[in-house]
Amino acid sequence: MKLSRWFARLVIVSLATLMPCGCSEEPYGAPQVMSFKDGKRAAFSMHFDDSMESQVENALPLLNARGFVGTFFVNPGSERYGRYRQVWEVECIAHGHELADHTMIHGDVLSYAQADHEIGECARIIRGVYDGAPRLLPYITPGGVRWDVSDAQLRELLDKHELFLAERSHGCCPSSHFADITIPVLDAINRGAWTQLGFHGIGGEWLSTDVADLVGLLDYLDANRNVVWIATTSDAYKYQQEREAVRVVSLADATDAGFSVEIACDESRVNTFGRPFADLYDQPLTLRVSVPAHWTSYVVTQQTTVDRYGMIEENGRKLAQFDVRPNVGPADVRVAED
Ligand SMILES: [Zn+2]
Repeated sequence: MKLSRWFARLVIVSLATLMPCGCSEEPYGAPQVMSFKDGKRAAFSMHFDDSMESQVENALPLLNARGFVGTFFVNPGSERYGRYRQVWEVECIAHGHELADHTMIHGDVLSYAQADHEIGECARIIRGVYDGAPRLLPYITPGGVRWDVSDAQLRELLDKHELFLAERSHGCCPSSHFADITIPVLDAINRGAWTQLGFHGIGGEWLSTDVADLVGLLDYLDANRNVVWIATTSDAYKYQQEREAVRVVSLADATDAGFSVEIACDESRVNTFGRPFADLYDQPLTLRVSVPAHWTSYVVTQQTTVDRYGMIEENGRKLAQFDVRPNVGPADVRVAED
């Protein structure tokens, strides 16, 4: 071997030992945090605003039939919400959709105190719909109303009520342009990113999107579901925040039968609203680890969660891909007996 090549190899080996996550213990590879859940290449979220009846009547059945989830920015004090309260508060949640804060009544807000009530009361009601426990909620300010609240005041209220401002990368309300409606998804796939698209009416009411166009989007998502994570806004947000805050992934106690693995996030990199990190950031991150060729399935245990997984293969390597929550201690990964 030429000396230069030998030296190059030495440098590579040294670098591998120095990498913060290069914590492979034979016979396992170094754990890799995937960009998105289940190793998907991109993520996409659908927003539905204003608790509109056409969303209940036309959008929800289409989403549910495909097992897709959306984020519904509701106004719990509005008549519209009241007419379908049971759907928002029971059926939506049962199907895995998310309720998010869009103020109580979507009306004019003329003072800080009124904004505090409109935003805070909406958040309180939504958390009550779940279980009243701490929960990070997305928020979007209503449009088309008078809004006498400064950006600084809004930031203070979001902090007070433990909300984050939801981004909407591709705006709102696509209408009658099927060729356009898939662009946000294509953009996510091309960039390996998380994108979002908003809707108001679906086949009725205002700023409406045709039902056929929504069907076109959902069919496109269906055809790409192996590469796109269709996520609620808070799940994708938490995943992204946690992933960017990962400090170290440590693999330990390695034997032929398994290992333990732990993800530690830097709490100072996210807004914890003064709470312990794991109170609000409870979205598991997907890890990938190369394992011995004899593995066919395995069980992952973390706290009270027990999940069984099959293998994936990439370039002839056997890989375990599984979910682990950060900052709640190690997960035990054990090859299955049968
Ligand atoms: Zn609105």
